[in-house]
Parts: sequence; structure tokens; C-alpha cells
Amino acid sequence: MTITQETQRADRTPVRVRHELRFRNVEVREVAQITPNLVRVTLGGDELTGFISSGFDDHMKVILPDALTGEIRLPNLAVEKGSDGAPKPTMRDYTPHHFDATANTLQVDFVLHEAGPSTAWARQAKPGQRLGIGGPRGSFVMTTDFDWHLLIGDATALPAISRRLAELPAGSNAVVLVEAETQEDEIELTSAAQLSVTWVHSNSSNGQVVTTLAEALKAVAKAGLPAGDFYAWIACESLTAKALRAQLIAEHGANPKWTKAAGYWKQGSIAVHENHED
Ligand SMILES: Cc1cc2nc3c(=O)[nH]c(=O)nc-3n(C[C@H](O)[C@H](O)[C@H](O)COP(=O)(O)OP(=O)(O)OC[C@H]3O[C@@H](n4cnc5c(N)ncnc54)[C@H](O)[C@@H]3O)c2cc1C
Repeated sequence: MTITQETQRADRTPVRVRHELRFRNVEVREVAQITPNLVRVTLGGDELTGFISSGFDDHMKVILPDALTGEIRLPNLAVEKGSDGAPKPTMRDYTPHHFDATANTLQVDFVLHEAGPSTAWARQAKPGQRLGIGGPRGSFVMTTDFDWHLLIGDATALPAISRRLAELPAGSNAVVLVEAETQEDEIELTSAAQLSVTWVHSNSSNGQVVTTLAEALKAVAKAGLPAGDFYAWIACESLTAKALRAQLIAEHGANPKWTKAAGYWKQGSIAVHENHED
């Protein structure tokens, strides 16, 4: 490796790409129960033309139909926040799992958990219904040029993990640790990269999810992690994501610069998105 290549490698920072923010009213085309707790909804319609998602962990807003009228009310960018007097629609963050530009369809995977408007909508979703989406308004594109990749998450992170695995080239190496509710919630993960996948299952106590990810990470590390530098990506319950990031840096040699951790939801709170940094 030349000095210039080494300098470029040491500098690996994500490239930020901005997209025009668009809200779209789309049709539910297909609903598939992938596992007992995962529903895949395929959205379609002309409004999807021009949809862009360039980062594996992009997110968009899913805008749910009004609970009383069933109407989809897309936010109006022309009026100042709230100044039109209309109540804000209920929105949650989801990963665009797969956009097919030829068919103009977009797959979104919904984890079914105990209760919440989005999970309730996914449970009853049927072809012909309408849904709103907004964004993504930007993407962080992270190079795949690391000696290996570590991806850790719960079921809400599976769409992003699948996307990252799809973009890793042959010859690269990925270690994946995923927590799902039951063994039946495990899905097949594939990649051109050499892949080592560990599944663990969460416990529940009084309606609270009790994670086993920290112990599982210790066990995976004890069994031996690949050599060289690595990009670590974590997404799950927020406090768990924060603790896993600290554990990776303190105990498993992760570089804080290359360790991205996000809370995709937070025990006891609604609609949380938190990024954990130093
Ligand atoms: C960037 C980003 C990308 C995401 N991508 C996806 C995705 O592709 N697929 C997906 O399913 N989710 C994804 N999520 C997570 C999703 O936005 C949250 O789970 C969301 O809170 C669900 O909304 P809700 O209306 O069902 O529940 P809410 O009304 O938000 O919450 C109701 C209650 O349920 C709890 N809760 C919320 N989510 C979960 C959960 N997963 N497990 C257990 N309890 C929960 C909350 O703590 C709260 O007590 C993503 C989140 C972010 C920030």
C-alpha cells in the first residue's frame, strides 16, 4: 500500500448526500408476513418516481392514515410548521429496504412489537390501502474499504443490515450479531462478503424487552474477531446501542471514529431516533 492510499484509508469519513425532501402518497401493493414478527409491505405508485436512497442506513418518515378519517395528510412544506392549524400526522422512522426503480416499488419491513400506531397499522395492512412517506432527506454513504465489518442490531435494524451486506464486495469480511424475538423471527442474510452471523433472542419481562446483545457480543469477541481495522455499526433500543458502543470501544478495540451507534427506538418512549457519539 502506498502512503497516499494509507492516508486516504485513515481518512475514511462518510460522504453526506442531500436529497430534495418530498412527501409521497403511495399505494400498498403487497403485504407479506416474513416471520411471526416481521411484515414486509410493498408500496407502489407514480409518486415513487425519482425516489432516492443512497445510504444503507437511510431512513424515511412513514406517515400513517388519520386514525379517525383514514385520510393521508402529507405535511405541507409551503406553510410554516403548525401554522396551518392542521394537527400533525402520526409519523415514524423506517428504512427503505429495497427500491425497484423499474417496477417503481418500495419495500418496507415493519417489526411487530407490543403496541404503537405504526405496529398496529402494519398488523392490519392490506393491498389497496394508502400510506404516506417522506424523505429520505439525506444519506451518509460509508466506504466499504475496511479490513472487516461489524453489524449489530435488533429486528428493526435488519433492513439496514441486509442493505449493507448487499453492498459489501466479494473478498470483504462481515461479522453480524442480530437479536430477534424468537428463533422463527430469524431471516436468511446473504452477502458477497464472507459472512459470520450470530442470532440471539430477547426476553420479555412485564412488557419490557430484555436484551441479550451485550453478553452475545462478549461471546462473539471471545470466539475471535477478524484481524485488522473495522467499521462497527449498531442500531437497536437506544440505551442498549449506547452501551454496546461503549463496550466495543473499551473492550473490543473499536475506533470511536468508525463506530456508529443509533437508537432506533427507546424503551418507554415513542418515536425516538438517537445517535450516540463521544
Ligand atoms: C433511522 C431509523 C430506521 C428505522 N427503521 C425501521 C425499520 O426498517 N423497520 C422497523 O420495524 N422499525 C424501524 N425503526 C424503528 C421504528 O421507527 C420504531 O420501532 C417506532 O417507534 C415504531 O413505532 P410504533 O408506532 O410502532 O411505536 P411507538 O408509538 O413509537 O412506541 C410505542 C411503544 O412501543 C415501544 N417500541 C417501539 N418500537 C419498539 C420495538 N421495535 N420493539 C419493542 N418495543 C418498541 C416504545 O418504547 C413505546 O413504549 C427505525 C427507526 C429509526 C430511528
